[in-house]
Amino acid sequence: MTLFEYAPAPESCSIVTLRSHYGLFVDGEFTDGGGSPLKTVNPATEEVLGEVAVGTDADVDRAVRAARKAFTRVWGPMRPADRGKYLFRIARLLQERAREFAVLETLDNGKPITESRDVDVPLAAAHFFYHAGWADKLEHAGLGPAPRPLGVAGQVIPWNFPLLMLAWKVAPALAAGNTVVLKPAETTPLTALLFAEVCQQADLPPGVVNIVTGAGDTGRAVVEHADVDKVAFTGSTEVGKQIARSVAGTRKSLTLELGGKAANIVFDDAPIDQAVEGVVRGIFFNQGHVCCAGSRLLVQESIHDELVASLQRRIGTLRVGDPLDKNTDVGAINSPEQLARIRELVGIGQAEGAQVWQPDGQLPERGNWFKPTVFTDVTPAHRIARDEVFGPVLSVLTFRTPDEAVAKANNTTYGLSAGIWTEKGSRILSIANQLRAGVVWANTFNQFDPTSPFGGYKQSGYGREGGRTGLRAYLKES
Ligand code: NAD
Ligand code: MG
Repeated sequence: MTLFEYAPAPESCSIVTLRSHYGLFVDGEFTDGGGSPLKTVNPATEEVLGEVAVGTDADVDRAVRAARKAFTRVWGPMRPADRGKYLFRIARLLQERAREFAVLETLDNGKPITESRDVDVPLAAAHFFYHAGWADKLEHAGLGPAPRPLGVAGQVIPWNFPLLMLAWKVAPALAAGNTVVLKPAETTPLTALLFAEVCQQADLPPGVVNIVTGAGDTGRAVVEHADVDKVAFTGSTEVGKQIARSVAGTRKSLTLELGGKAANIVFDDAPIDQAVEGVVRGIFFNQGHVCCAGSRLLVQESIHDELVASLQRRIGTLRVGDPLDKNTDVGAINSPEQLARIRELVGIGQAEGAQVWQPDGQLPERGNWFKPTVFTDVTPAHRIARDEVFGPVLSVLTFRTPDEAVAKANNTTYGLSAGIWTEKGSRILSIANQLRAGVVWANTFNQFDPTSPFGGYKQSGYGREGGRTGLRAYLKES
């Protein structure tokens, strides 16, 4: 039953100027790349947004040389307080141009405008503000009286939070006195290139930030470059393992932020409506393209039926469609490849005997879409309970006792995040201490803050981003 029908409320795109061709950003200037350009597409409409240069080994080498020169001559020797001023300036420019960044992110990625506007862009600015404050206080980072930067950081990021992942990587690196060569994901390069314009606008010295676009080969060239001192990667566990192998035996330091299969644990004393909101936010935020998504709902057996019924009722009210519409809750799947991966895993879930449920409603004809999906009758052995789907697909499992909840939650090769829903504070503390997950949320989910370190156990990677702990990835003790 539809109670309310909303008129469309589309955000205007007029604030964004799309170019037909985008170059690499090396040594403070936009230049062509040696590879054959790739096209970036709006996944909600299949429209080509622009052609983007592809960096070859030689382009990456140019970028690393520029970063090295800037590190040695300008950024490394600069007074820390002055580095901080640049970071503050970048943070303010991100705020000033927030709408432009939000619209461009939504066009290139497919995420709802409400999310890019209220989450991605403000959090990216917050990361620069937070790290700007650290720039002249590094002696309090816990690494001795005068910690030193590592040098040139090679950073490779994924497509799910393009600008935000850039901020997580670039802000701490610069605050600690490093320079960077960053490779955005091939399906979402545009906000990184707009960020390059912000670097120019902030008068950041040339070579401090270099952005080299391209696909996996360009990423590999960044990671394997002999003059890179530190590698930071966020993306799939498979590529993370390749990178760990290639970095092993070199002097490079490495942080990896990989996949997840988080448990969201709901006890029978939890406020059900609040838990339902948290479960929905946990798995359908950003179409489920979230490494810390609450993709496994562990619900206490006695409330299973009630919770699933409320959940389905709530999911029935989610609006799937035009990401630029301010009413939209669930946007487009980022690429046809990702859509195919989601479909394949959902097919396997059905073939293995789990019960699939999706809400009624029509999906747009063009573009990449997948309905919010719930699997019940899932067992821990099912692929949909083990593999990261990275899409809007929830697997529901049950437990009877707290010990069983902990055992099931930890029964995963990953360990990035988890959620606990209960009225009892003592239970929150005792369960959280037993979970092998880098972040544990209690009676909430998917909350992010630059002061709070984020990272994983096991195949979710190693190292932390954010907070004082995150600075350690970009400093050496002295
Ligand atoms: P991916 O790991 O292939 O890509 C992430 C980034 O790494 C991109 O910029 C890509 O160009 C680059 N890259 C690819 N191969 C590389 C290599 N050999 N060396 C260096 N860089 C390389 O991820 P994907 O193919 O876009 O997605 C596959 C799966 O990964 C998803 O289904 C999801 O499960 C997972 N994923 C996780 C995250 C996360 O935040 N943890 C993000 C994206 C994808
Ligand atoms: Mg795109």
